[in-house]
Parts: sequence; C-alpha cells; structure tokens
Amino acid sequence: MTRDSGTKPAAVSAQFDAVVVGAGFSGLYMLYQLRQLGMSAKGFDAAADVGGTWYWNRYPGARCDIPTTDYAYSFDPELEKEWIWSEKYATQPEILDYLRLAADRHGLRSDIEFSTTVTSAHWDEGENRWKITTDRGNEIWCRYYIMASGCLSIPKSAEIEGAGQFAGQVYFTSQWPHEGVDFTGQRVAVIGTGSSGIQSIPLIARQASQLTVFQRTPNFSIPAHNGPAPAERLVQLSDDRDGYRHAARWSRGGIPAEPTDVLGVTASEDVRRERFEAAWDQGELFGILGVFADQGVNPDSNDIVAGMIREKIRLAVDDPETAEALCPKDHYFGTKRPCLDTGYFETYNLPHVRLVDLRKQPIIRITEEGIDTADQSFEFDAIVYATGFDAMTGALAAVDVTGRGGLSLTEKWAPGPSTYLGLMTAGFPNLFMITGPGSPSVLSNMTVSIEQHVDWVAGCLRDMRDAGFDTIEPTALAESGWDEHVRDCAAITLHPTASSWYMGANVPGKPRVFLPYIGGVNAYRQACDDVVSQGYLGFRRTGRGGDQCRDGVIRSMQPDVAMVLEIMAGLGLPPIQTLSAGDARALMAAAAATRPPGPEVAEVTDGVMPGPGGDLPYRLYRPAAADQGPHPIVVYFHGGGWVLGDLDSDDPLCRDLCARSGAVVVSVNYRHAPEARFPAAAQDAFTAVQWVDANTVSLGGIPGQVAVAGWSAGGNIATVACHLARDAGGPRIAGQLLINPVVESEMMRQSYAENGDGYILTTALMRWFWDHYADPAERGDPRAAPLLGNLADLPSACIVTADFDPLRDEGVAYARALDAAGVPVRHVRARGHTHTSLTMVGIVISGAPVRAQMAGALADFFPAPVTGAVSNSSIG
Ligand SMILES: Cc1cc2nc3c(=O)[nH]c(=O)nc-3n(C[C@H](O)[C@H](O)[C@H](O)COP(=O)(O)OP(=O)(O)OC[C@H]3O[C@@H](n4cnc5c(N)ncnc54)[C@H](O)[C@@H]3O)c2cc1C
Repeated sequence: MTRDSGTKPAAVSAQFDAVVVGAGFSGLYMLYQLRQLGMSAKGFDAAADVGGTWYWNRYPGARCDIPTTDYAYSFDPELEKEWIWSEKYATQPEILDYLRLAADRHGLRSDIEFSTTVTSAHWDEGENRWKITTDRGNEIWCRYYIMASGCLSIPKSAEIEGAGQFAGQVYFTSQWPHEGVDFTGQRVAVIGTGSSGIQSIPLIARQASQLTVFQRTPNFSIPAHNGPAPAERLVQLSDDRDGYRHAARWSRGGIPAEPTDVLGVTASEDVRRERFEAAWDQGELFGILGVFADQGVNPDSNDIVAGMIREKIRLAVDDPETAEALCPKDHYFGTKRPCLDTGYFETYNLPHVRLVDLRKQPIIRITEEGIDTADQSFEFDAIVYATGFDAMTGALAAVDVTGRGGLSLTEKWAPGPSTYLGLMTAGFPNLFMITGPGSPSVLSNMTVSIEQHVDWVAGCLRDMRDAGFDTIEPTALAESGWDEHVRDCAAITLHPTASSWYMGANVPGKPRVFLPYIGGVNAYRQACDDVVSQGYLGFRRTGRGGDQCRDGVIRSMQPDVAMVLEIMAGLGLPPIQTLSAGDARALMAAAAATRPPGPEVAEVTDGVMPGPGGDLPYRLYRPAAADQGPHPIVVYFHGGGWVLGDLDSDDPLCRDLCARSGAVVVSVNYRHAPEARFPAAAQDAFTAVQWVDANTVSLGGIPGQVAVAGWSAGGNIATVACHLARDAGGPRIAGQLLINPVVESEMMRQSYAENGDGYILTTALMRWFWDHYADPAERGDPRAAPLLGNLADLPSACIVTADFDPLRDEGVAYARALDAAGVPVRHVRARGHTHTSLTMVGIVISGAPVRAQMAGALADFFPAPVTGAVSNSSIG
C-alpha cells in the first residue's frame, strides 16, 4: 500500500488494547465503539486524513451507487439529523465531508496516526498479544488487531507491457490528485470500463479534445437518474427513522425492500416489461437486481433482464458497431457488479470519443507517446487507469501477518481465503476483519454491513472481558463449515460462472473462489447472532475465565433447502399425521400441482400392468425417441410412506432421472395402505419388476438391463423386490438406487433424535406411516425391514442419505450392512439436505449435483454405454 504524504508523526512504541488499521467508515466506527467500551485504541491509515475510499477516489464523477440516505451511519442519531445529503447519490467530496464531520463529532482523529502504513502484525504466543509495526518505525503491542483496511482499497496495477514508459501524465482513479486534473484540450486515454471508468468517462469527455476508451469487458450499467434524494424515502425516514434502519439491517442487501416473488420465466411479457421499466426508471442497483425473484439463479430469467438492458444500450448509442461492443454478452447480469451512470453510453455519440474493443484489438504495449494496439498506434497526453482493485483480500494480504506458530496469513490463504463469518480466521487469535471475505460486504450496502460487523466485534470484546477471556479464535471445524456454507450459497447462483472480481478473476494468479457471502445481510446477521446466543459456537476462548471451546458448525443446511423449509413453515399447513389418509393425499396432490414440471424427456406414456391385487398403473419416461433405443430400464417406486404418492407425486424426479441417466424409467403406482396393508406394496413391487423384465423388449429396454430405484418407502419396496427376486431365483436385477430409504421400523437411531422434528418428515409422521402400513408384529419381517434380512447376493446398490433426515442413519447402516455382506455399494451423502429436498426438482437447486450422482450410479449398473442421456450440467 502506498502512503500519502503528510506531517510525519513521531515513531512510537506503545501498548494498546486494540489497533485498528484504516480510518474509513469501518475504522472510524470501530474506534468509536472501542472508546465506548473504555478500551485504549490506536488507529493507522496510509492516507493523510480520514475517509478511506472517499479519501482516495477523487476522480471526476466519483459517487456512491447506493442512495446516500442509506449509505450512511445509523449509530449516531444526532449526526443523522445534522447531515442532509444534497443528492440521491452524493459525490465523493460530500461523502468525505460527512466522514470528517463524523470523526470530528466524536474526536476520533486524536486516536489515529495518518500517513502511516501498517507493515506487519505478528502474534506473540508467550504474551498473547499482537506486535504491530509500521513503515514509520512504530512498534505497538496490542491485545486485539482489527483490520478495517477496506475491501476495495488496494488498486490493481496496470499490468501492461511498457506501462512505465509513457512520457505523458498518468492517473489512477483510485489515487486521484487532490488538486484535481484539467484535461482541457488534451488527448486522453481511459483504460477500464468498470464502475470508476463508467463514472468518470462522461466528465473527462467534457474536457478532453479527444477521448479514447480501451474496453476489455463491457459492463452492464443503468442510468442513476441522480437528483434530489427520493421524496418517498425521506418521508419514510422522517416518519420512523428507527423502523427504517431496522428494516435495512434485516433486509437482503442492506436497504429496506420487499423482495418480489415474480419469476421471470413464468411472468407474462407485459409484466416483464412493466417490472423492468419500473426498475430502470428508479435507477437503483438493488431494484434492477431484483426485477425477478429468479434472475440471480435461472439463466433464462437472467437473459430477460440482460436482453432488455442491451436493448437500451442499442437505443442510446448511435453507431451500431460501438453499441454492440458496449453490450455485455459474456456474463450473466449481476454476476459482475453492475454500474450506475449518468450519460455513459450517450458519451460515445460525441464526435471526439472513441471506443477501442480490446477483445478485437488488444493492447500490445504502452509507449512513450501513447498506446500500441494490434492494429494501431495512439498518441496521448494523459492515460487514466480505471483498472479496479485487488478486492476483499488485497489489503489483508498486503500486511505481513503471522499467527500461531508463525503461520503466515498469505500462506494459509494461498488456495483462497478461509474465515469464520468473514470476521476471523483460525490460527490468528484476536485478529478481526471488518467486512472480510465470507461476509456480505461488497454485495451489500456496506455501511449497514460495516456497522453490523463493528457491533459484533464490540459485543464480542465486551463479552470476553465480562467472562474473563482474553483470546478468541475460531475452530477449524467451524471455519471449514462456514467456508462450505459460503460456497453452497454461491453455488446455487449464477455468480461463479463469471470472471469477476468477486471471484478474484481480475488479479493474475489469485485463486478463483467466490469471495463474499451471498446469502443476504439478514441471513448473515442471523448467523452471527446465533453464534453468540449459542455461547460463541465455533470459537475457542481462553483467559482467566478458563479455556472454553464450543465447537460446531453454525449453518450446515443447504441454503435453498432452508429457504423452502421457511416458506413451508410460513404456510401453516396442518401436520400430515393429524389428517385422514384421504385428506393427506389431497393436500399432497394440491402441493404437487404448483411445482415446476421437471425436465423434458422424449416421451411419457401411461399404461397398466397386471398386479397381484389387480392392474397396476405405470408411467414410462423415455430419454430419447424409441428408434434411438433400446435403453436400460429403471423400475421406480415413489415415496409417501406406503400411504401417499402416485404417478404424479414423483413425476419431476422421474423425468430428471430419465434425462440424466439415459435410462427408460417405469414408475409404478403400487397399492397403498391403509386400504392395502403390508405386504401388498412389496408384492406389487416384485410383480412389477417381473413384468418389466418379461416385457423389456416391447418397452424399448435392453434385456438383462433392468434396475430398481425408489425414494423413501419406495426405496423400501425397491430393495425388498431385490430380496424377493434373489430368493425366487430371478429376475436378475442390475442394481438398486435407494434414495433415503426406509429399511427398519425401530426409529431409535441418532438421526431420529437429531432430525425427528422440523424437517417435514418427522418421527410422528413416520409412526403414522408405519401404523397405516404394518402391524407391530409384522415390522420385523425383512419384507418390511430389509435391514434385518439376508443381504448376501443382492444387486449392487447406491444408497443416498440426507443429513437432515430422520432415516439418515438407517440408510447408512444399510449401506454398511450390504457392504459387509459383499454387495458392491456406493453411498452418496446429500450434504445439507432433508428427506424431501432431493425430489424438489427445479426448486432446490443444490439437489441437482446429488441427482447427477444418482444418475451416474444408475449408468454404472448397466454394462453397455448408455445413449440418450442429457448433459447433467444442462439440467437444473
Ligand atoms: C469508487 C467507489 C465507490 C463505492 N461506492 C460504494 C457505494 O455506493 N456503496 C457501498 O456500499 N460501497 C461502496 N464502495 C465500497 C466502499 O469501499 C465501502 O462502502 C466503504 O467505504 C469501505 O469502508 P472501509 O472503512 O471498510 O474501507 P476503506 O474506505 O477502503 O478504508 C480503508 C482504509 O484503510 C487504509 N489501509 C489499508 N491497509 C492499510 C495499511 N496496511 N496500513 C494503513 N492503512 C491501511 C486505506 O488507506 C484506507 O484508507 C465504493 C468503493 C469505491 C472504490
């Protein structure tokens, strides 16, 4: 980090409770809170004054892109009353003045050493303290080391050959001269079209005699429609400031907003257009990012918004070739931070402004006179680099930080940052990060996230002091659990598909991991609060108060599964076990009617087959046209506790298995309890397998390639059919895919204790199922409890178990028992899933990779290469 010159303070060697690096929004509020706690604290900033981002980024047009009514502190009501923002999106000088006022109101400058860069921080295990050194020779010992050093504070270097050769003026938007720059009459180059480029280009164009913009990646940008602060928001704030701020803290992005439930893929053309135009006219980031509920996860929905923005760009730019070059097409909208602009695209209509598309005409080198591209040499008086930042980890890694045992932070983070809650990292006691990787930070209104982080850290320090602890550090388990949760949240969105700075893709050699937490400010705040209310779950704290470690993982459920559970809880549906079988079936059918249909398959036909108690309806799913077969066949049995379910209930799952595996799926509607009790369902399953085996060719199957599959109770009868087939000497079954199967009736395993309530399939419901299906005396029969039977010589198995399923442990036990009996078994653990979530095709996105594994297992059952399978990555 470069240091801004200023009056050189005397070198000091001193002790403080805390050192805070950075004097922007984060550092200032942290210092304030430390004072409130009565702790001694020292702040450092490389800048010559407070302000952070708003101290450094003084380029023309620099403004916030979150409305300033919201992009502000909320901790100081007097400051809120005293300061009136002049515009909807305030300029850099105004925000800097605001931060200066905030610092002065609380006399914070006296605690800060300006023009001083912190160069190293080493944890001393004997002292249980940090030793901090600066570029001015200060050596400071402190208990707590707090990096409020900014997510976008380390500019990315130019990385273009010859960058040092240019004889004209060179400017970086992130380190703009304080006295400003007059480009009047100059030939100016701007390299980079991210937010800073997009904000500055229209203003530089007003002065320059020639402006050439070098664009590598076009970015989505919408007009800011700047002006006075929105009247409606001012009224909301003056009517109920506390309520407004509370709503912001518990919102998804840090601004109060009602999330929509309109899906882009199902909305009518009129509704799509109306919603898009409203967001366009509003000119706010979270508005355009929330036109549809599914635009962040569904490519088709995203394309609708992206397409409409491209339309607007084509309307704004006169020259069709330039317009096309300015239209982003290589990333989904929102997967890179969209920009807000004032007249950006229209600037390209000016006769002295030209766009150079570096994808067609790459820069070869910077010369003394200007820039050489593959096709042309340009001469310039000034070059402006708007090339962005080493985001989120740059400032943290720029300091030589070592923790326990001399562990270096950069070494630990070489594969990508690893944190607990984005606040701390294991091996580095008492090191706190404000808006670190793994927290919402740059995806949110950062002032809200900053205040939340600082409040959490302050609360943590207070709690430690009260309990007599003086060190705190996350456990490895808690940290890896959080990292996994951060990845899980990103994985269900389109974000990881983009080469964005969120992914570290703008910095050569930086590992590609999605850096921020995308689960939302509200969900994140809840997780942080839950950690505290569970006695600092995932942290180890030591001191005279003892050595306390509450190890554990704060969020291990897949985020979309948690969302579905929350929605279902909100519906207030009656527990199924309180209903009659008929009413329960009607409820299930009504719920099934509202689901997405599942993927297309080549053919779906209904038929009947003879069964022991009368005809059994079946539905056949064919992966490709019949003349492209034959295909292996999977005989599938639906779930529903032997009581519920039918050919419709598992239809999306059957389509999904068919499309992914390339097998014909024959879904059989067996007889249900209580009308037909044990062993009717099991007998039907066996009969169905016999019938399919006998009719393989006419069904379009390959003789000898028939497997069984089933979910839940369907898994139970699928494996029982395998037992019966073995005992009867045939038919030969190629394999068994058992998804969360019921394999015993005891309901005594640990997973019942852990997951018996709250995850849709409950212990009470399981009991209701068993009561409808089999008498207690029958429940030990291997045809009801196959785990108790002879498992030798059964077909190869793939057993899927879900973490939050009461049946989890019996599934695991069955996999182990099969293995012990010599049956080839593959166990697929559906991490973070419930009993039902894998079947929610098109709703629970995180289920897709698990279903891909199931399809892979099915394919492995069959010897011949399978034709007709759709690429797994193309199915949601
Ligand atoms: C141009 C621009 C516009 C933005 N607009 C918005 C917006 O509209 N809404 C929004 O939510 N966010 C916005 N951001 C993000 C912005 O960074 C945050 O909102 C916020 O200002 C961050 O505050 P901070 O105190 O955490 O970090 P910063 O403001 O970045 O301050 C960090 C400080 O730490 C200092 N520092 C770092 N390392 C060291 C070291 N080793 N030694 C000494 N000092 C050090 C730096 O000099 C810097 O002054 C914008 C960012 C940029 C660049």
